[in-house]
Amino acid sequence: MTPLRALSFRLIARNAPATTLLCLDYYFEWVDSSSTLTAEEMTLELHLFHHYVKMLSGITRERDPTGKAAIIQVFGVRQTTENDFSLHPRTFIYQQIAKLPGRKMADGDLSILRYQLAHDMKRFTERRLQAVGRRQEEIMRNAASFTPCLPFMLTRQCRREPCREAHLAVNVTPAAYNLRVKLHLQEIFILDIVSKFDTMEQDFIRRRKFVFTLLYSAHD
Ligand SMILES: [Zn+2]
Repeated sequence: MTPLRALSFRLIARNAPATTLLCLDYYFEWVDSSSTLTAEEMTLELHLFHHYVKMLSGITRERDPTGKAAIIQVFGVRQTTENDFSLHPRTFIYQQIAKLPGRKMADGDLSILRYQLAHDMKRFTERRLQAVGRRQEEIMRNAASFTPCLPFMLTRQCRREPCREAHLAVNVTPAAYNLRVKLHLQEIFILDIVSKFDTMEQDFIRRRKFVFTLLYSAHD
């Protein structure tokens, strides 16, 4: 297990939401080892990813996220008066605002009203969910543990040339079968969350179909 993945599990166990979310955000932004993970490792990865998207989705459901200390800590914003906050140029929200078309930023910290900050926290978190949801789908499509070649698993032979599925030397046992079903169910739980933020309905239908096809194929 990578140190960052181990740390993520420890933070979740300690119930430290702000630190956990920052750690998971960094982890899923930079760590891209999922395509080589075994099925057992992939279930741990998906457990973390499910936790990550649940936390992000929780922020978008807050009526006023600026009133939550943990969320303020995650975004690194500073409250200056009852209704004003200050954003440092290195904070996520500041950088997202700076990317808006036609937006010109002055040097130094940006002062922002509470209602506007609450709105920005939610909309930029939604965009983050959309981005990580699509990236997760890419990882899943390339992951050997998600697309094993069934003939090879059963007979250690495959007549398809070329075969686009992974030739894994896995014994077909009840435990391996259950692990495969668990992977697909985890992915469905994740899809259930991220799909709510996907603005492209056709994309969502295509992704749902892909995951359910994998799940049904596990019964073959
Ligand atoms: Zn094959």
